[in-house]
Amino acid sequence: MSEKKALLELKNVKTFFKVKGGMLKAVNGVDLTIHEGETVGLVGESGCGKSTLGKTIMRLYKPQEGQVLFDGQDIWQYKRRDVFNYTRQVQMIFQDPYASLDPLSVIGDSAAEGMDIHHLFTDKKQRESEILRLLNQVGLNESHVDRYPHEFSGGQRQRVGIARALAMNPRLIVCDEPISALDVSIQAQVVNLLKKLQRERGMAYLFITHDLSMVRQISDRIAVMYLGNIVEIANSEDIYLHNRHPYTRALLSAIPIADPTVEKQRKRMVLGGDVPSPVNLPKGCSFASRCPYATEACRQSAPALRPMEDGHLVACHRAEELPEEAY
Ligand code: SF4
Repeated sequence: MSEKKALLELKNVKTFFKVKGGMLKAVNGVDLTIHEGETVGLVGESGCGKSTLGKTIMRLYKPQEGQVLFDGQDIWQYKRRDVFNYTRQVQMIFQDPYASLDPLSVIGDSAAEGMDIHHLFTDKKQRESEILRLLNQVGLNESHVDRYPHEFSGGQRQRVGIARALAMNPRLIVCDEPISALDVSIQAQVVNLLKKLQRERGMAYLFITHDLSMVRQISDRIAVMYLGNIVEIANSEDIYLHNRHPYTRALLSAIPIADPTVEKQRKRMVLGGDVPSPVNLPKGCSFASRCPYATEACRQSAPALRPMEDGHLVACHRAEELPEEAY
């Protein structure tokens, strides 16, 4: 991926929220680059800050510190016209497409919502033919245009959500748990559709999910997030086969394996300990309270995200010492 141009760069991004008792550090110093046409999977347990990071990229939250650069420009230094362009080029797909669609609008109008806001088509016929083209691209057809969201299945509604994002001809789509609410068979269809659209249109994806099984199918690289920080990032295959961070290993070891013989024989890494409060983070490694390899040094200083090999980055003091095991 290194030869590809950086599209979006997060530099030491911190997104905090004032809560009773202090500041909730939802995103606590994230560095991440997404290249043109690349898919980065962002994984972690719920509450780790991944959705807040997605919304920070969408310019829905302003970070307290750090920079979000798009084509090298700070999105918080934009003039009004640049903001308008940015909100066109960076789109979002949501977990619950039903909640994001107006129940009183027909599907054609929902798909065209962004097009209408940005006045992309003033000619009614052109607008209609563009809606049809978009719906066809996501596997829907003319018969769906005048129907309402309640007449659609979850998978079909997610296709409408994708069509609505595509209408803006985006360069980056933040996919926030786009398949979590769908049946497993439908999940694969939506992932395959996203891959097909990326091949045809070349946009980048940030694919946010707590499910490590499906993210492998779509991601070029995977970033693992824990308590507001990225603790490991590497090529998709390296995350599965040469992972280094104990938290990544724990997440992977929780994925069920279909083969009962393999499932019975496999080692699992079960985490004990409590998750620290994001309002009151420890001074050392934030994973130390659950990590079976934690030492006193881990509790004293927080590990920085540092390079290993082939662009593989890990935030663990003991990454070189720990046995290399694939889960
Ligand atoms: Fe575990 Fe220490 Fe590595 Fe943190 S730095 S993940 S506590 S071994």
